[in-house]
Amino acid sequence: MSQRSITVLGATGSIGASTLDLIRRDRPNWRAVALTANGNAVELAKLAREFAAELAVVADETCLPALREALAGSGIEAAGGPAALIEAAARDAEVTVAAIVGCAGLAPTMAAIERGRVIALANKEALVSAGEVMTAAVARHGATLLPVDSEHNAIFQCLQGNDLEDVRWITLTASGGPFRDWSAEQLARATPAEAVRHPNWSMGAKISVDSATMFNKGLELIEAHHLFPVGLDKLRIIVHPQSVVHSMVEYRDGSTLAQLGPSDMRVPIASSLAYPARMETPCAPLDLAAIGELTFRAPDEVRFPATRLARAAALAGGAIPAVLNAANEIAVAAFLDGHISFTRIAAQVEDVLSRYAPPPPQSLADVLAVDAEARVRSRELTEAT
Ligand code: NAD
Ligand code: MG
Repeated sequence: MSQRSITVLGATGSIGASTLDLIRRDRPNWRAVALTANGNAVELAKLAREFAAELAVVADETCLPALREALAGSGIEAAGGPAALIEAAARDAEVTVAAIVGCAGLAPTMAAIERGRVIALANKEALVSAGEVMTAAVARHGATLLPVDSEHNAIFQCLQGNDLEDVRWITLTASGGPFRDWSAEQLARATPAEAVRHPNWSMGAKISVDSATMFNKGLELIEAHHLFPVGLDKLRIIVHPQSVVHSMVEYRDGSTLAQLGPSDMRVPIASSLAYPARMETPCAPLDLAAIGELTFRAPDEVRFPATRLARAAALAGGAIPAVLNAANEIAVAAFLDGHISFTRIAAQVEDVLSRYAPPPPQSLADVLAVDAEARVRSRELTEAT
């Protein structure tokens, strides 16, 4: 393999760290173009030095002096602010790992798409919010969108060499999160510390809360709807507490293909980085005898209404998934800050959805305007709680 250039948007996060761990083990094959973070200048500078990046960018401009100081004498360019983030994403790199959390990653991801190269997409909120706008840009610019989210990466692998028309079902597996066996009364009292303690995966705080509410699976349903256009009625969710089967595709002849692996994001990231080839990961081989049992059950949409809300949003299409996503981002932040209860997250999202139904966005600017307005409305509801 000849050396490939890579940009990591969200280099200091959980997905960013897993990506850079793989690159670290395969150094001769990679050249870092840009690494970005929100505000952790010290960590970002450390990574930029380690990987000899051309450019390091903090989205929060107030952290730029600290970044400059930490990079002094290194010859690495430092920049800050939203425009610099987009410029970093627009700089040519063969592979861009989109690993910013939230709709904050949308504009830079779109800038990377416009270069028409490979985008390894972890940032599900961007695709959920921009849906048609993003998939149209991918087609227009001839970019390759490779799903890093473990379920979508599994589905992508199970679809290789097959025809979407032959698909009977696509089944997304869900761990069910840390509260899958909790009663409604227990859920009402769930704390942020309990919500971020995921049984199988180690992830950033936002996606951990989303796993606990099942909004993560809801967002993934919308994500799958855009990535694999088989129709919403062919997309199903099943709870699989062991997180070994990462998702499945059933074909019309009755064959079901599944992708299995350890609960380690380095596996789907490696699959995207090396695609269509394969690369080594340090993950232990799957030991099914030690795991012993794989179990499955139907999701409970009474205790966890998020997947019901997401399915309705996907069905409505247009701007509605962006409203759902933005309302959820604000509600999750409010829950993490102790302002609202765990069960209020879904209630608040449903409230925003019932009051705000803007027309379908036609452009990135339209999506960002919907996102901004839905945030304001969700925040107002937090304040009224
Ligand atoms: P994280 O919180 O650990 O990291 C987020 C990264 O984004 C950090 O580098 C942070 O500095 C940066 N960032 C945060 N806010 C920003 C802003 N406003 N502007 C610019 N940069 C900002 O999150 P994570 O767990 O790594 O998740 C990243 C994305 O990948 C999310 O969309 C998540 O849903 C998705 N994802 C994560 C996992 C996982 O296992 N962690 C699995 C599947 C999908
Ligand atoms: Mg996932």
